[in-house]
Amino acid sequence: MNGQMMQQPLLISSLLVHAERHHGEREIVSRRVEGDIHRYTYKDLATRSRRLAKALAALGVKAPDRVATLAWNGYRHMELYYAVSGSGAVLHTVNPRLHPDQIVYIADHAEDQVLFFDLTFLPLIQAVANRTKTVKAFVAMTDRAHMPAADVAARIPHLLCYEELLEAQDDRYAWPEFDENTASSLCYTSGTTGNPKGVLYSHRSTVLHTYAAAMPDALNCSARDSILPVVPMFHVNAWSLPYVGCMTGAKLVYPGAGLDGKSLYELFESEGVTVSAGVPTVWQGLLAYVEANDLKFSTMKRTVIGGSACPPAMIHAFGEKFGVHVLHAWGMTEMSPLGTACTFKPKHLALSQEERYAVMAKQGRAIYGVDMKIVDPNGKELPWGSETSGDLYVRGPWIISRYFKEEGGDPLIKDEAGHGWFPTGDVAKIDADGYMQITDRSKDVIKSGGEWIGSIDLENIAMAHPAVAMAACIAAPHPKWDERPLLVVMKKPGAELTKEELLAFYEGKIAKWWTPDDVVFVDAIPLGATGKMQKNKLREALKDYKLPTA
Ligand code: AMP
Repeated sequence: MNGQMMQQPLLISSLLVHAERHHGEREIVSRRVEGDIHRYTYKDLATRSRRLAKALAALGVKAPDRVATLAWNGYRHMELYYAVSGSGAVLHTVNPRLHPDQIVYIADHAEDQVLFFDLTFLPLIQAVANRTKTVKAFVAMTDRAHMPAADVAARIPHLLCYEELLEAQDDRYAWPEFDENTASSLCYTSGTTGNPKGVLYSHRSTVLHTYAAAMPDALNCSARDSILPVVPMFHVNAWSLPYVGCMTGAKLVYPGAGLDGKSLYELFESEGVTVSAGVPTVWQGLLAYVEANDLKFSTMKRTVIGGSACPPAMIHAFGEKFGVHVLHAWGMTEMSPLGTACTFKPKHLALSQEERYAVMAKQGRAIYGVDMKIVDPNGKELPWGSETSGDLYVRGPWIISRYFKEEGGDPLIKDEAGHGWFPTGDVAKIDADGYMQITDRSKDVIKSGGEWIGSIDLENIAMAHPAVAMAACIAAPHPKWDERPLLVVMKKPGAELTKEELLAFYEGKIAKWWTPDDVVFVDAIPLGATGKMQKNKLREALKDYKLPTA
């Protein structure tokens, strides 16, 4: 017997319709690439998104065409989020930090038809415009007054102006209804090896993920919040915050290209930001600026940190110096992205502050909708509550079942009941309360004498040293142990630190045999397109390094 409730597809456009009706006056504030601060409301967003949907149709875009963006976090990008997906086409957000060759590869692979870009990326557009095979028009996300000069424009085929496209349309447009399993948006993985692979989200997966992300024990967002997503809209849909905004009616504050500590801090204060989200490297810049200028946050309550392990020293600094609660979260492009969030259970409230910080350093427990398990090298599930780590597998309605155009074949691994699990490539342990802690990427694990050493623990300790700005731990070859940990360290500007001092800092904090064998000081640690340390580059650069213990 079926239930007798209404059938209504979960569509991204329904989020916008809700926001216009129930939060129409709530503000969306953006720092524009034109240099000023732009403000409007959810009602304006809805009106302009309808005009944009008509403009897309006038350009010949139809379902399921792919429409690409190369853009910062801002209101025009948000209009594209809703107009493209809402009209049944597929939004392909491209990471502008990728190499132009990779951008050409993924634009061709996605068969993008139209590409919208912020003016910042004009040089990039000039580099790729004549190389992409399917893009019929390039749209500069600005008004006529800021359009590129005629000589530049002449070198870009079919260059159009965003505001002119909108001006040509009215907002009489009804969002189409279609199957909720229809594709809505496409993101490519960062792909440290091989070509990036496409992850194709659906309307259903996106709306369900948005519900889950907004929950109190996930990102904890409400109508009373003012949210500043530092995490870019070109990286896994800014962890869903542009959708969470419409669902909850929170004020949204978009930082545009201003991701330095000063620009972010000014927006936090001027717009009464209560919640933010981003990768650890961004917060390093912000913390350095705030500390150097002896500033305080007057409205910020919490920040979501994920994308890489959040060093415990950062959790302490935010909490103790600034009263900002760090919400450590984990996920990946293949997971829309949210998998776990580290929020307390009642039993943790009785713990000391230090004990709570230890909990907060973990990546947290699975949010409803995500199931996870750790397995040994034979695929056998490992128990929770032991110190044993294993490969982390996940399943759920917003987790990938296969890559776009079936690249790489079937990624899932079946269990005995026939359920497919996605192997994340992360190595983790899970405690008795279900709190997961990533110890490594499987390809970064250091295998010493048949045992695994988790590089993240070693990096976290180094980063707690006051002289260390960033630390990466990689495997170096060793004749007796196969591999031993080598610590690569970038010091804080002007800081003094010797190898001996840093290695002594490990004493008592970790099993002795885990202590790195050596330290290499570098001027900079390479970061990838999403702000993660590129350990593969470090391994390559140090492949002939001879450990003093070897
Ligand atoms: P991406 O798909 O580019 O977002 O990368 C996903 C990967 O980032 C995950 O598989 C993890 O290796 C890493 N990651 C994300 N969040 C965390 C976190 N909180 N701690 C450690 N690693 C993380």
